[in-house]
Amino acid sequence: QTEKELLKAKLEAESASRAKSQFIATMSHELRTPLTSVIGFSDVLSTNTSEKLTEKEQVYIDNIRNSGEQLLNIINDILELSKIDSGKIELECEKFFVKEVFDEILPIMTQMASKKNIDISVNNEIPFETIFADRVRVKRIMYNLLSNAIKFSPDNRIVSVIVDKSDSTIKVSVSDMGIGIPKDRLKDIFNPFTQVDSSDTRKYGGTGLGLAIVKQLVELHKGIIWVESEEGKGSTFSFTLPMKELNK
Ligand code: ADP
Repeated sequence: QTEKELLKAKLEAESASRAKSQFIATMSHELRTPLTSVIGFSDVLSTNTSEKLTEKEQVYIDNIRNSGEQLLNIINDILELSKIDSGKIELECEKFFVKEVFDEILPIMTQMASKKNIDISVNNEIPFETIFADRVRVKRIMYNLLSNAIKFSPDNRIVSVIVDKSDSTIKVSVSDMGIGIPKDRLKDIFNPFTQVDSSDTRKYGGTGLGLAIVKQLVELHKGIIWVESEEGKGSTFSFTLPMKELNK
């Protein structure tokens, strides 16, 4: 094949991939509008005090609402991933203390963990360092990793977060004492829609999109992410973020 043919094939593949991302983005957006109505109106019905609902009706309405919200979460994840894939995400980076992210998300995570009597421990010396990153996205990364650590741990365990500084990056590690990940699955765990066990969706919920989003967001910040895990013992997910503005 000549160089020209190769280039042509590459451009065609890129254009097809862009069209696919655009289709997914548009479709997700279109699905969101009617779904918002479903959730909104089931809310109205459920809180409408003028007509008393029977117990059964209340259960049905709560089901509609919860399923609607679950579906909305999935659609939002697909939308976020397709935006990243098509290069449509612009990070809004600023300088802030790592600790601020923890202050914002720990109350929610602690509440989630307390349902399983899990303690979250954070080393508190280093988080006084600043990073240069997109605050909302860093929260998303931490939220996804911490909620997985809680979700895949049995009751009464500890989830620990360690923040380290090295040269120009901050390294964050989230460790759990949970079910762990088999060695042969470690390499595809960051691919979209990947779950270790196909029955995991039923057992633990989730879509297999969380880690794919985390990986893309870390890499958009020019960071790296990796996992160490042992089945039955637990997992540690680590990622790096830049401390200073990157030279373009
Ligand atoms: P989800 O949690 O929605 O299924 P993720 O992309 O966040 O999707 O995770 C993909 C899969 O990786 C999970 O279904 C689970 O099998 C595995 N996994 C992720 N985090 C952990 C963890 N901390 N411990 C054990 N397995 C994990």
